[in-house]
Amino acid sequence: MSDKKWVYLFDQVDEAEERAGDWESVRGLLGGKGANLGEMTRIGVPVPPGFTVTTEACIVYQDDQIFPEGMWDQVMASMRAVEEKAGKKFGDPTNPLLVSCRSGAKMSMPGMMDTVLNIGLNDETAKGMIELTQNARFVFDSYRRLVQMFGSVVLGIPDEAFEDELDSYKAAKSVQSDTDLDAEDWKYLTEKFKAVVKKEMGFDFPQEPEKQLELAIKAVFNSWNGKRAVDYRRRAGIPDDLGTAVNIQTMVFGNMGWDSGTGVAFTRDPGSGEKKLYGDFLLNAQGEDVVAGIRNTEPISQLADEMPDVYRQFEEITLNLENHYHDMQDVEFTIEKGKLWMLQTRSGKRTAKAAIKVAVDMVNEGLIDRKEAVLRVDPEHVDQMLHPQFDPEIVEEARNDNRLLASGVNASPGAAVGQVYFDADTAEKMAHEEGQDVIMVRPFTKPDDVHGMLAAKGILTSEGGATSHAAVVARQFGVPCVVGASMMSINLEKRELRSNGKVIKEGDWISLDGSSGEAYIGKLDLTTPDLEEQKELMTLLDWADENSRLEVWVNADYPADAIRARSFGAKGIGLCRTEHMFFEEERLPHVEKMIINAEEAQKLIDIAERLEASLETGRFEGRPLTDETRKMVEAELAEAKAALEGSKAVKAYYEALDVLLPLQRGDFYGLFEAMDGLPVIIRLIDPPLHEFLPSQEDLLVDVTTMRLKGEKDGLEEKEILLDAVNRLHESNPMMGLRGIRLGIVYPDIMRMQVRAIFEAASEAAQKGFVVYPEIMIPLTGHINELKSVQPELEAIAKSVMAEKNVNFNYKFGTMIEIPRAALTAGEIAEVAEFFSFGTNDLTQMGFGYSRDDAERNFLFTYVDKGILPVNPFQVLDRKGIGRLMELAVKEGREVRPDLEVGICGEHGGDPSSIEFCHLVGNNYVSCSPFRVPVARLAAAHANIKNS
Ligand code: ADP
Ligand code: MG
Ligand code: MG
Repeated sequence: MSDKKWVYLFDQVDEAEERAGDWESVRGLLGGKGANLGEMTRIGVPVPPGFTVTTEACIVYQDDQIFPEGMWDQVMASMRAVEEKAGKKFGDPTNPLLVSCRSGAKMSMPGMMDTVLNIGLNDETAKGMIELTQNARFVFDSYRRLVQMFGSVVLGIPDEAFEDELDSYKAAKSVQSDTDLDAEDWKYLTEKFKAVVKKEMGFDFPQEPEKQLELAIKAVFNSWNGKRAVDYRRRAGIPDDLGTAVNIQTMVFGNMGWDSGTGVAFTRDPGSGEKKLYGDFLLNAQGEDVVAGIRNTEPISQLADEMPDVYRQFEEITLNLENHYHDMQDVEFTIEKGKLWMLQTRSGKRTAKAAIKVAVDMVNEGLIDRKEAVLRVDPEHVDQMLHPQFDPEIVEEARNDNRLLASGVNASPGAAVGQVYFDADTAEKMAHEEGQDVIMVRPFTKPDDVHGMLAAKGILTSEGGATSHAAVVARQFGVPCVVGASMMSINLEKRELRSNGKVIKEGDWISLDGSSGEAYIGKLDLTTPDLEEQKELMTLLDWADENSRLEVWVNADYPADAIRARSFGAKGIGLCRTEHMFFEEERLPHVEKMIINAEEAQKLIDIAERLEASLETGRFEGRPLTDETRKMVEAELAEAKAALEGSKAVKAYYEALDVLLPLQRGDFYGLFEAMDGLPVIIRLIDPPLHEFLPSQEDLLVDVTTMRLKGEKDGLEEKEILLDAVNRLHESNPMMGLRGIRLGIVYPDIMRMQVRAIFEAASEAAQKGFVVYPEIMIPLTGHINELKSVQPELEAIAKSVMAEKNVNFNYKFGTMIEIPRAALTAGEIAEVAEFFSFGTNDLTQMGFGYSRDDAERNFLFTYVDKGILPVNPFQVLDRKGIGRLMELAVKEGREVRPDLEVGICGEHGGDPSSIEFCHLVGNNYVSCSPFRVPVARLAAAHANIKNS
């Protein structure tokens, strides 16, 4: 136990790898930052020497806040090794080694855990350093930073306590910038800061370097369980038991004068993906100054002019790092008296657009293969590419109207329109409680603001650069963002913003363009981008198709949706809901007429049919017909036929069906044309009939009022309608007379639909389109239902084709959305030629939840309390509902090996559910048109990750 290794020097990364096994595990052990500091050291990049305390130590420490046995000794031993390399000694007044203490978990968690710089400085070592460097300004600047960071990060003193001292001192001296302060100023402020520590804590700022180091390491360990870090992990789905590593590293100084500096950069543009260095730097500054956005930074290209040699070396190193990691890197560097040091590298966070461009470019550059490129892009990135933007013409117009409010750095692309709020809490409240579209406006943001930023549609700040906190967070979560719009002056007290001669008060509307970095007053129209113009995305999606087994089909009811979906790459229609067409205004009266008369008409039809059947089979009520009973049946049949003839209801019923038939035929024709050559699954009528009629309450109110007022006009129609609604009333209509049950009780509706479908398909086929209709019968629960409905509908299909003298392939199948159907799939597959999982209903009935009630009353509580991991209507429940699917596919294919299986619920657009569909062997998933590109990528991910 005591000889366990808790600490690795950066140059012991081989050893760490040997122990951990693979690189993923090295990252788990040393954290991402530590692992990459080791890796950079290994490949010869200049990294200041240091060592990493493992995440395992952090986890053990959490038990009772004590360092694990042996850890501290190893820290000290490693410190000796670092001293050796650096040629300085920790705590030595004549030649002191200073170090930073940096957190670093396996996943990068920007800004969540705090770094302390300049550890090892105290009154004694400060003197020694002045002696050595002859630069008192630098030493006291560093010292006051240590006191401030140590005070706030380690001791928990509010940062303002220090900032206020600095601000009032600057105000008193009437200087603007930190760089205007000299050695004496910083010396004075160091003392002031020490006094703040004393006042706030009741003890002196610790002078012993080892004590500083010990407390700093503990603070990093403790920050793993700080609120900010925990919140972030929850949101990003990072497990709590990973722990964070601590990196102790020799300080290099960017604040030693104008030949020194510090910066951050991306190896490519994280907004557009363009291959050029992107970032900013500051001369004569240390670490956090750049990220914090407190001083206005220079773009990295400027470094080429200021220090050409350093810039060239920087270019070479970053190129090296990209080639080594095969990915775009986000690096931190410091220049100390003209010497370049790398302090961090990691794979760079990027926008959707950049992710796609970088992936495609890297394939073309030979850095990665197509599969890897496909995996590099998150399906949700594709979704973001379809998000709204402002039309350039509208922007032009707004500019000409003098509506430009501010311009700054285009930190995270996309357009947003919303109402302005000046703090995170209000922004969140307005978004969540009032349902407003919110733009959060701040001078700059801090980790505590993240909840407001996530609730906002857009973020606008007056300070900070492309790598400031606001920019990084916004890019990560895909929120449009403009930073550093320095023409704005924000008055947080008065809750207003003045800029470009305009005043914006809280609650006013603005439009933000994160792609151009501009903000406009008022609301600009949003447009949805055209996928076909996005060449790189199209290429990537083609590569995705090459690497998938699952096809992506679309849920589309209208030709326009079908055409769009086809251009998005859909390979068929998985669900056309025929009843949508019934809701159209000019059709509804006919639909009403059909429904109102269905019951009475069907009663008469049934009587006549029963009598006819009796004569055909020669049996009546179970007994063979005698001469006498035959006569009786014949007489009754004649009577029934007369009743049918004379019935108004029957007449009206068929009149309505006759009107609807050609209309439906027209609907379907357009789909066959649009989907030329591809399968089109049309679902026969599914919802309960009352959905097509006005609400019971409304009708009752109308009828009652008309009666009271004595209005006669139209009263009778309303009464008839009300009567029908009352008769159709069910206590649980979702489980009542609908789907295939309607097909059994009122068979003429589905007959009409099948006729319409085949007439349309025949017509299209005659015009030369390749049609492939698949008729989907909803809500089967028992094989006998299907046996009763399907053969008869198939007969209609055949007779239409014979009438029209055309022939094409078609299928009849059913939805699997009732658990019993899934459980008896073997039987069902004897009749059905395809299955389509209706996972919405399957989830409702499998869980016994009514979706609307569940989402309104308890589902969010369930998810909140962790009773369910996620909303099962969004992400398919693999264990329960998924098991039904798995069984259905297996037993269905045992009976019918070529059984076509798909899914048409909302889950068809959800990446995790898509992966599951891949795993159970579906042929396709079907989703809404805008999700098709997302689903194509998810289908490829599922295939690549699982093969
Ligand atoms: P974060 O994860 O918040 O970026 P870091 O540990 O990377 O925290 O450090 C914060 C800042 O301090 C960065 O700008 C980093 O480059 C700088 N820094 C960290 N260690 C050193 C060091 N040894 N010498 C100089 N600058 C350092
Ligand atoms: Mg960093
Ligand atoms: Mg259903």
